[in-house]
Amino acid sequence: MSSCSTPKKLWDFHGGIHPEQNKLQSTMEPSARARMPAKLILPLHQHIGAAAEPIVEVGERVFKGQKIASADGYVSASVHAPTSGKVIDIAEYPIPHPSGLNALSIVIETDGHDEWIEYRPEQDYTETNPSRLRNIIREAGIVGLGGAGFPSFIKLNPGSQKKIKTLILNGVECEPYITCDDMLMREDPQSIIAGALIMRHALQAEESVIAIEDNKPEAYESVCKAAEGIDGLRVVLVPTRYPQGSEKQLIQVITGKEVPSNGLALSIGVVCHNVSTAAAIYRAIHLGQPLVSRLITITGAAVKRPRNLEVLFGTPIEELLQQCDVASDQIERLVMGGPMMGFALHDTSLPVIKTTNCIIAATHKELGLEQPVMPCIRCGACADVCPVKLLPQQLYWHSRAKEFDKAQEYDLFDCIECGCCSYVCPSNIPLVQFYRFAKGAIWTQEQELKKSDQARERHEFRQMRIEREKREREAKRAKKRAPRAKRTATAKAPSVDGAKMAEKMRDEAMSQRDSAVDARKAEIQAAVARVQAKKKSAAPKTEKAAPITPAPSDVPAKSDVDKKNDSPAASDNHEQVQ
Ligand code: SF4
Ligand code: SF4
Repeated sequence: MSSCSTPKKLWDFHGGIHPEQNKLQSTMEPSARARMPAKLILPLHQHIGAAAEPIVEVGERVFKGQKIASADGYVSASVHAPTSGKVIDIAEYPIPHPSGLNALSIVIETDGHDEWIEYRPEQDYTETNPSRLRNIIREAGIVGLGGAGFPSFIKLNPGSQKKIKTLILNGVECEPYITCDDMLMREDPQSIIAGALIMRHALQAEESVIAIEDNKPEAYESVCKAAEGIDGLRVVLVPTRYPQGSEKQLIQVITGKEVPSNGLALSIGVVCHNVSTAAAIYRAIHLGQPLVSRLITITGAAVKRPRNLEVLFGTPIEELLQQCDVASDQIERLVMGGPMMGFALHDTSLPVIKTTNCIIAATHKELGLEQPVMPCIRCGACADVCPVKLLPQQLYWHSRAKEFDKAQEYDLFDCIECGCCSYVCPSNIPLVQFYRFAKGAIWTQEQELKKSDQARERHEFRQMRIEREKREREAKRAKKRAPRAKRTATAKAPSVDGAKMAEKMRDEAMSQRDSAVDARKAEIQAAVARVQAKKKSAAPKTEKAAPITPAPSDVPAKSDVDKKNDSPAASDNHEQVQ
């Protein structure tokens, strides 16, 4: 059950200050819609991350809510036409940024019809899965409207492994002068609560808390009333102290948990969004409207009618100053944001962007006399008020001496640039300016290092590619050569079958020759046998020596002798004996 009265323990954070508020001036009358300007200048870089890419051309007619530039990469945000009209230029224009640099911008000539594109609202967000909700929020170009400008869908994506316990809606608005969140909570708490419920669903968070400082009693009452009866939603009043609206400090106050140095709130199961961001998410999901405008505080002693206006992005600041009856000749300094963390603008023609929450037209009297800067007296007052428990004095010395490594050893990048240290410094040292200078120099060095690393990687990659292509060419050539070499080898050396065949043929040839030799031998033997047989029959006496006196039994019969003498061989044997 939601409750504004349930007491729940609050924790404390270190340091902090109580600067003069100056909030009352701009809350005296209800907020109103700013007049439509003749021309809107829309920088494509209105957020943290990469600039958006234009998707329209000069001369093209556009409708209100039409996407005119697409997010370029994950950390980026799309830009939409804030009203209907014609694109008349896409070029570099000055942007409201501490750097004072220009950025690519789309200029729209408004047609006064304020004609919307077709709405595509979600029928029931509770039936929509968190991933789709995040996509719609991304497509709507929503970024953190508390001043940071970080793409909101990223902070609604804790990852499948991470369980979110607490969603905190930041309605603290601790910077002096700024009252746009205060007025939104007073006038439209339903949008904030509807947005909070969508975010809770997207995060699957266990509980949600809307935190409001106790210097905004009307806002607190209004939000409490709207939150009545909603389960798991608490509205919490926190004591006024600067910089309680800073994410890490507010998380500590509400949950008692400290976000680790260089860590994210997600890592401790907490997500924090601004109340204006919640209202923008409500419009994107329930109404199908992308982010094209926001509530802005126009205030400062030079403003005769300080108030909050709903302003289309791209509206030149001078138009707002006119609508709030600014005494231009009394402006000593024009500031975007609050007096603690804002920065000076040098041109009133600069446009309002997504992160513009306040314009202060300050007079000379209001700023007070410029105090001379004196040497540090090592009083330690700066360390007493630092909400991050840093040592601002050491950071100052090292930043000033350009000893950036040492400044980083003292956690320079944990500094939230809240300005508490500068505010209390009795020597009037603009400490935050030194920290910003050091951070800028380190970033530049890192960028250069990154660029040289990228150049080296590109070179190594090119070398690898050349080597690989060379290897591939050689492999192709070897593949082509292979069949030719095989043919040559086959011709030179018979195959196994060929060799067998040749051997067989050789055996057959030898066998035939042996047969011929054997046949010849047989013929010769046969001839020899015939000759011997003939000799034997023709000359028997020579074959067996006859005795001088033959024995009567050896004398052949006359008929046998006569027969032998009649044969042709008998005459031969006779001649031989003689
Ligand atoms: S507050 Fe100023 S003077 Fe005192 S230690 Fe810090 S930097 Fe030095
Ligand atoms: S500006 Fe930085 S160093 Fe100074 S008080 Fe704030 S966080 Fe600390």
